[in-house]
Amino acid sequence: MLKVSDDIPLIGHVAFGIIDRGTNLLQLRPSSLCPLSCIFCSVDAGPKSRFRRTEFIVDLDYMLEYVKIIAEYKAVKDLQIHIDAAGDPLTYPRIVDLIFCLSELKNIKVISLETHGALLNYKLLDEMDEAGLSRLNLSIDTLDPQLAKYLSGSKWFDLPKVLEFAEYIAENLKMDLLIAPVWIPGVNDEDMPRIIKFAKKIGAGKKWPPLGIQKYEVHRYGRKPKGVKPMTWYKFYQTLKKWEKAYNVKLVLNPRDFGIYKVKPLPLIFKKGQKISAKVIGWGWHKNEWLGVAKDRIVAIIGAKGEPPVGSKVKVEIVRNKNNIYVGVLG
Ligand code: SF4
Repeated sequence: MLKVSDDIPLIGHVAFGIIDRGTNLLQLRPSSLCPLSCIFCSVDAGPKSRFRRTEFIVDLDYMLEYVKIIAEYKAVKDLQIHIDAAGDPLTYPRIVDLIFCLSELKNIKVISLETHGALLNYKLLDEMDEAGLSRLNLSIDTLDPQLAKYLSGSKWFDLPKVLEFAEYIAENLKMDLLIAPVWIPGVNDEDMPRIIKFAKKIGAGKKWPPLGIQKYEVHRYGRKPKGVKPMTWYKFYQTLKKWEKAYNVKLVLNPRDFGIYKVKPLPLIFKKGQKISAKVIGWGWHKNEWLGVAKDRIVAIIGAKGEPPVGSKVKVEIVRNKNNIYVGVLG
């Protein structure tokens, strides 16, 4: 476990810190931990992780300092914060404090959080509501408790409890609820219409769309359920359109539905192919990965063999730089 604080930049890595995709929304990733081990997890999180070497927890004050600096740079009056994770953000020990402190910053207008709900309880929901959480994006992938255990890779996962929490949010709290199932073709097809009806029945989506159905995709380090092939984007959207008509609900979503628009991105520091000198600070997220720091950015140095030479400078060639997320190889 790496506690991320001073000296470790919060921009540059996909597993922790802050991701700016050039809009008025910032993704905050305060923790990479997760109690579940979903069989479709795109980031190989949880106890059954096969590729991870390090988990990350970001210091609260340090994260807030970064948010303030980026908010000033963005210079918009309606900044949004989406607390997600390469894990479950509810593993962050100070999640309520984080929400509260963000809500106190004057240009932040929306704070949303994404979870599968395994760590929810009524007290935490009430506290997050009071702290200023605007919306909970709750991933409910099935209404069948047994299938939920299978999908979450966790026999202890209590779907009926999560469904109760969903109803509680929609009925009693100020925050909005968006139900965000991952649709895995051939596995939970029949659940999608059921989940749509459930979201409508309980009154999800008071301010924003009630549902955000996510398409299962294969990722390099992600877990792949046996025999599942991702559907095409065409088929995915055609089916959503069909269900929109059948259930009279918005399913094909656009950033504008959430008030998200383009705003100047943070400047890219390194180009693809550029050779840089990075200071090695330790093991990286995955096996065979070191963490490097250069020019106030964190760089994942992949394909690195052996112990990281902590404190030394190494030559790195940048192979990925999209959205200020830097991946490099020794070279
Ligand atoms: S899909 Fe989400 S909840 Fe499931 S293991 Fe991955 S990070 Fe955790």
